Formats: sequence, C-alpha cells, structure tokens
Amino acid sequence: MAQEQCRKQGLKLTPLRQQVLEIVWSSHNPIGAYEVLQALQSSGHKPAPPTAYRALDFLVSAQLIHRIESLNAFIGCPSPNDAHQCQFYICSECGHIAEINSPAVASALDDGANALGFKSQQPVIEVHGICKACQ
Ligand SMILES: [Zn+2]
Ligand SMILES: [Zn+2]
Repeated sequence: MAQEQCRKQGLKLTPLRQQVLEIVWSSHNPIGAYEVLQALQSSGHKPAPPTAYRALDFLVSAQLIHRIESLNAFIGCPSPNDAHQCQFYICSECGHIAEINSPAVASALDDGANALGFKSQQPVIEVHGICKACQ
C-alpha cells in the first residue's frame, strides 16, 4: 500500500524509508526517532542519524505515518489512502494509540479558523486517557 501511495504521489520509497516504515509499523504503539535509529542499527544498518530522521520526515509528509506531537513519537497510519485530519486517543497505561478521522471535528476546527480569519496549517488533536482494555 505504501509503495502504491508513493507512486501515486510521485515519491520514491527507498529501501531505507521502507525499512523505517516497517519499524514504525512493528507495533501500534508510538516509537521515538531515537528508537527507530536504534532498531536500524541493530538490523545492521549504520545510517547517520540525520538520514534516519529525514526518512521519518519523508514518511510523515507522504502521510504514511503520523507524528504524535505530545509524545514526540511516530505511529503508522492505517488509512494512508485518504487525505485526512486525524485525531488520536492515547492510552497512558499501555501506550496504545487509536486513530479516528472525524469529519465533524475537522469541520468544527475549520469553522473556528474561518470565524477568526485564521489560516490553519496543522491541527493536532491528541486525547490522553485509558483505553477500553486497560479499564
Ligand atoms: Zn492517518
Ligand atoms: Zn491501554
């Protein structure tokens, strides 16, 4: 899916970028840039840190992963095909993150921005709490 997505956007999913994507997708818990770097190194790669960080930036801009701002970490996007604003529910017990794409939330934010004459760039909605399993 990621390869198809990149092809459509005219982007190149290099082997390193693909490997970083696989590392981020190895769980549905968030992973920090430094942990990605360590995982790359333990798999035998020795990329310079900026190379690994650029691969993460690439994957974010290709909408294949999301950055969780409040945790400074990354997570795979389960629906990279649709352009979307997403909202995240983050469990503070187990670290699991669920992503939803609520058009109602997105349009409420757009309405608010329009009323203020504000030009939104990157709305971030991250809700911390306890997931169903942990309750
Ligand atoms: Zn997403
Ligand atoms: Zn939980």
